[in-house]
Amino acid sequence: MEKIALITGASRGIGRETALRLWRGGCRVAINYQKSASAAEELAAELNRLRPGSAFAVQADVSKREEVLAMKAAVEGALGEVEILVNNAGIAQQKLFTDLTDADWDRMFAVDVKGVFLCCQAFLPPMIRKKAGKIVNIASMWGQVGASCEVHYSAAKGAVIALTRALAQEVGPSRIQVNCVSPGFIETEMNAALSPEAAAALIGETPLGVAGQPADVAEAVWFLASPQSDFITGQILAPNGGMVL
Ligand code: NAP
Repeated sequence: MEKIALITGASRGIGRETALRLWRGGCRVAINYQKSASAAEELAAELNRLRPGSAFAVQADVSKREEVLAMKAAVEGALGEVEILVNNAGIAQQKLFTDLTDADWDRMFAVDVKGVFLCCQAFLPPMIRKKAGKIVNIASMWGQVGASCEVHYSAAKGAVIALTRALAQEVGPSRIQVNCVSPGFIETEMNAALSPEAAAALIGETPLGVAGQPADVAEAVWFLASPQSDFITGQILAPNGGMVL
């Protein structure tokens, strides 16, 4: 599949694995990062060594419109117009609801929700013009069922799911598919702060009895980015080991 894909938050974890999966499938990939410049640049350099011109690392805080627009211009200059947008960049935080500050709430929604809004708005116009395009938003099982001590994260991911369904309806007539991947417990740096007991408890609650890996999510994104899913839109695909059914 020779498409141009942008994956936000692709310097590590799920985003990195997704960029690799799309690249292995033949895409040229824009690897967005916020702070991890060397990780993103090294990944792009390695992919370009194997297939020249196939990868581009691009910095942007997805919560800031001017940075998203600068990213769009840079990606179009380096690779061309984006045909597959994967809104993966995200932050998480564990805190008692009664301890949440305005700043905690605002930052969560700025990155996890407004980032999706800004990127969709920036990258949709060429897709609408061409009447083709795929958007995959990374939500979370906590956006489906809610998590104690992650109320703002759950609310933000629930918003991503609702945004996905609404946008799928709005841009469906332009033949653009908008879907969600809603992972369960995946072993990445995002969960590095979890105690071994907490991680074991989550795995214990997972019917398949294992933690997910970034590749499990990347395969789901790949399917929703590929022509095999052309008649699927507004849906949630959930690599979660059966934890949320
Ligand atoms: P991670 O390892 O913490 O990686 C997060 C990525 O997002 C990094 O590449 C980071 O870039 C980027 N990022 C953070 N804030 C950003 C911003 N403002 N602008 C641009 N990039 C930003 O997380 P992960 O586990 O791979 O999670 C990826 C996505 O999956 C997130 O949306 C997360 O909510 C979702 N998810 C994860 C799990 C899980 O169990 N891990 C489960 C469900 C859903 P820098 O390195 O440059 O900061």
